[in-house]
This record gives sequence, structure tokens and C-alpha cells, in this order.
Amino acid sequence: MLTGGCQCGAVRHAVAAVPSRVHVCHCTECRAQSSLAFGISGIVPPAAVRLTRGTPRVRSRRTVSGKVLAFAFCTDCGSRGWHRNDPDGPEMLIKGGSLDDPVDLTGASCIWTRSKLPGVVRPPGVKQFPQDYD
Ligand SMILES: [Zn+2]
Ligand SMILES: [Zn+2]
Repeated sequence: MLTGGCQCGAVRHAVAAVPSRVHVCHCTECRAQSSLAFGISGIVPPAAVRLTRGTPRVRSRRTVSGKVLAFAFCTDCGSRGWHRNDPDGPEMLIKGGSLDDPVDLTGASCIWTRSKLPGVVRPPGVKQFPQDYD
């Protein structure tokens, strides 16, 4: 069981699954939403995720590929909790920084490397994709 939540603690979530994969996303949207160099997501089935405290606000936006991406964030502190690429799809992206235990990025893939910031170094052997997964 993974546990986590927002920066201020008003929203907490629990995940009853091990992420099937973890990725580091270098896209400009992840940079804008996090104010950081890249985003970190763990892919889990939506049914494995439940709120244990508070209620995040859920909004959505169009992606460059024309899909709808839903995202949840704490209305008090603004931290993202999760993303979902397809509102009814089989995958939920738990934001790596929201989890209590540090996320192991050893086997993480790098996506959207074409917009990676200069100076960000990827470990040798890591799977890389210029845009999303092929
Ligand atoms: Zn918060
Ligand atoms: Zn991204």
C-alpha cells in the first residue's frame, strides 16, 4: 500500500497497487504545472486509488495529441495528486512527489526528452522516448 498526499496535508490518498511503470516526463506541460524541471508519475489502475482525507479539485485540459487530461489538486496548497490521460481509461498517474516513500527512479523511463532542459542528465541505459511512449 502506497500512501501520500498534498504538501499541506489537506488531501491524502492511498494506492493499493505497485505502479506498473514509472516515468519522468520532460514535457513543457509538466514543467509548467510543477514549476520544476520534470514530472514524475507512477502508473496504477484507477480502482486501486482512494482518497483518505479531503477532496481535491479536478480540472481538465486538452493535450497536444487532442486527448483530455484530467488532473486533481489540493485547493489549499495547489499540489497535484494525480493525472488521468483518458477520464475513463485504465490508467491513473499518481504524481511521484505526492508519495510518502521516495519513488525509486532506477528503472523509470524518460518521456518527452525532445523538450528536456539542457543540463538534465539521464542515467545510462534508461529507456527514452522523444515524445510519449511509442
Ligand atoms: Zn494541500
Ligand atoms: Zn509531461
